[in-house]
Amino acid sequence: MDRHKTTALIVVTDPITEQRFTCPYCWEQNETMVERQELPMELIEDCRVCCHPIQLRISIDASGRVQADAEPAA
Ligand SMILES: [Zn+2]
Repeated sequence: MDRHKTTALIVVTDPITEQRFTCPYCWEQNETMVERQELPMELIEDCRVCCHPIQLRISIDASGRVQADAEPAA
């Protein structure tokens, strides 16, 4: 299977936010709840559509933009 990487960028204003990411296997939209103060963080989420494990790297910059990189978990 091809290895894909997807990136989503949002601006966070709430302490807890719903971060969207695109499944790198089936391209469906998923969401995960992230706590702003825990960023940056890495986690593995299973796609709710195709159930493949997705490695997420969620980071935040100085202006509050949250970036989620989704890659297939090995
Ligand atoms: Zn999927």
